[in-house]
Amino acid sequence: MTIRDEWPLTTTSRSVTTATERRELLKEVYEQARGCIACPLHQTRTQVVFGAGNADADLMFIGEAPGADEDRLGLPFVGRAGKLLDRLLGEIGLERTDVFIANTLKCRPPSNRDPYPNEIESCSGYLRRQVELIQPKVICTLGNFSTKLLREDSTGISRLHGRDEVRTIGCRAVRLLPLYHPAAALYTPSNLQTLRDDFTRIPELLALDPPPQPEPAFTPETETEVEVAPEPVRAPEPGTTPVLDPVDAQLGLF
Ligand code: URA
Repeated sequence: MTIRDEWPLTTTSRSVTTATERRELLKEVYEQARGCIACPLHQTRTQVVFGAGNADADLMFIGEAPGADEDRLGLPFVGRAGKLLDRLLGEIGLERTDVFIANTLKCRPPSNRDPYPNEIESCSGYLRRQVELIQPKVICTLGNFSTKLLREDSTGISRLHGRDEVRTIGCRAVRLLPLYHPAAALYTPSNLQTLRDDFTRIPELLALDPPPQPEPAFTPETETEVEVAPEPVRAPEPGTTPVLDPVDAQLGLF
């Protein structure tokens, strides 16, 4: 069973207008993910790695799956690939608290093996809801798994990297920019240069107007509400253990 069809609060069945409301709903999705037993990975995970960053970010990054460090700390991209991601973000004038970082899978596959199709399918509803609630303008997929999932196509990353396109994820249209996974750039200088070059597209895409949104499936009851920005909360330094208890630590990250 997946959560795709059974999700109780889709944006098409309920009007969600303010950033504060969306952040509260994101916490509900996190609470559901924390107890998820939809695929066998729940038996081997230490904890669910839901994602972290600004719940109202214009830019989201979607990686593959938590590794050992992420599984231990409950945070995405805290290892070497994450440090490279931080560096590349810094080179375009951004930091983690400006963006939201999540993964295709929320639980670690044993021994860091590739995600299985049934795991991706089981987990995809969480990612779709994250996109619907965060409402980013731009999504950068990191590597093959998130690129194939969000494009619903098997074309590989080496053909697609650096080419943006408008795609609809759940009920949101976004500018999708496939990028090499930072782990692929760690030991291959040419991949790193390609990734760095492709990163320069991000500020250009963020400067564009958001793509036109699909028509909602119903007319919202409430029309205008004041947009309230959520309190930005700084994620712990990668490699440090959050001092809060695990639940508060993850909720405090977005
Ligand atoms: N690689 C990923 O794809 N995600 C992480 O969170 C860490 C490494």
